[in-house]
Amino acid sequence: MLMRIGGQETEAAGGTWLDVINPATGEVLDRAPAGEREDVDAAVAAAEHAAAGWEKVSPRERGKILFHAAGAIREARGDLARTLTREQGKPLAEAVDEVRGCANVLEFYASVSGCLSGDFIRLGAAGDGIVVREPLGVCGAIIPWNMPVILMGWKAGPALLAGNTLVLKPSSTTPLTTLAIAAILERAGLPPGVLNIVTGTGDAAGQAIVTHPGIHKVSFTGNTATGIAVRRAAAPLLKEVTVELGGSDPMIVWKDADLPKAVEGAVHGRFYNAGQVCNAVKRVYVHEEIAPRFTGELLARVRSLRVGDGLSPSVEMGPLQNRAQLDRVEAQVARLRERGEGRILAGGSRLRGPEHDRGFFYAPTLVADPDPDAAILGEEVFGPVLPVMAVPDLDTAIAEANRSRYGLGASVWTRDLGVARAVFDRARAGVVWVNRHLTVPPEIPFGGVKESGLGRENGVQAIAGWTRAKSLLLGW
Ligand code: NDP
Repeated sequence: MLMRIGGQETEAAGGTWLDVINPATGEVLDRAPAGEREDVDAAVAAAEHAAAGWEKVSPRERGKILFHAAGAIREARGDLARTLTREQGKPLAEAVDEVRGCANVLEFYASVSGCLSGDFIRLGAAGDGIVVREPLGVCGAIIPWNMPVILMGWKAGPALLAGNTLVLKPSSTTPLTTLAIAAILERAGLPPGVLNIVTGTGDAAGQAIVTHPGIHKVSFTGNTATGIAVRRAAAPLLKEVTVELGGSDPMIVWKDADLPKAVEGAVHGRFYNAGQVCNAVKRVYVHEEIAPRFTGELLARVRSLRVGDGLSPSVEMGPLQNRAQLDRVEAQVARLRERGEGRILAGGSRLRGPEHDRGFFYAPTLVADPDPDAAILGEEVFGPVLPVMAVPDLDTAIAEANRSRYGLGASVWTRDLGVARAVFDRARAGVVWVNRHLTVPPEIPFGGVKESGLGRENGVQAIAGWTRAKSLLLGW
């Protein structure tokens, strides 16, 4: 597949390519250009050329284009979802979900196009002040491989509605669906050059975006170490960089919880997308009175999960997205086993056999009562590994939940409003769920505290991050 610059499909200037691998089979599925600095230069030139015209299009007209694109994405969801499953690995039903989610985000931003406004401030004898929010101009977006389609929507929706033009880099392992959606946006009326997709690696195309003087803001989603490196590289240019990073979300299951619902919440929250979700349930703290029953029921569900090629309709969990990620998860569990830091109740290894040998499959894994200082609790485990810990009281649960360098989300499962309120008030997280986990509707701002990032995506609030204030003072 070719990348997309200024409305044209194009190869990389250097003529080199990156293979796109199907993680369920290990086979080469397609290839994408290995874009570098020269390609980012071309994309920035196209985005600059388009910026003046796009800024003058009314927000309502911009919204209409997003709205039409959302409809077209929804219509094409079958083909888009199959492409997503083949390049990313997730089960087809999850891929359809993600494609629909992208359409929903674009539709949401279309629906608030009439809300873009500024301020009018009376200053008495000094006159009046007017504050307008203007677009930033050419912006950059860098996204990872776990949820490429929804994350594209989170960035393109508010950025384009606010009147910016974009140079977006998908992960080199999942460029295909992003390219297909960019083409749909253009067919829906997005002028050429408003959204440019440069494929390529982070070291080459990614760094070129981060350090390009013509790009005024970068919105980055990825792991914490990369996010810090990106902010460091952009600092000499005083470029605004928002970073949505890793997470290690706790789930607190209180003694009065609806048990079947909580068990299903833990399974969905951890094993969705094979555990490769920033705000997945990564640690469960369950009240000791119900811990044996909860863990027993969870274990049965985890053992029953059907793992395989996401294109097969009965599959509940696909492979990890790439070999490096499989190696990383395998090493994290191996270390836990070597150090005796927890009891592995299920899984704990790669899956073998004719259905799994060629792909990057890891068994759904349940770990009981890991040592509170175990590495798998301190670092992000981006794969299907769930540690469960019994806790005696709410203070301990909240203290343990907060004992993390991450602070993306947290959930509490209870019927007691007081317990829910206490967790909401005391959790050091950007979002708290009660009796659910994982859902991120486009209306609600999403982002973390601590090492989970800076900035918020989604909601009308996100639009402000894609604009700058410009003030006008009127003396009458
Ligand atoms: P990475 O940080 O490795 O990569 C993310 C993106 O950055 C990719 O497009 C990558 O390119 C690019 N990149 C890598 N190095 C650089 C660099 N030096 N300069 C510029 N760009 C670079 O993250 P993963 O792909 O491993 O994604 C998983 C991580 O993302 C997890 O930690 C997860 O928690 C987090 N995440 C956070 C979310 C949030 O909203 N908080 C949402 C989803 C995921 P390439 O891959 O082509 O090399």
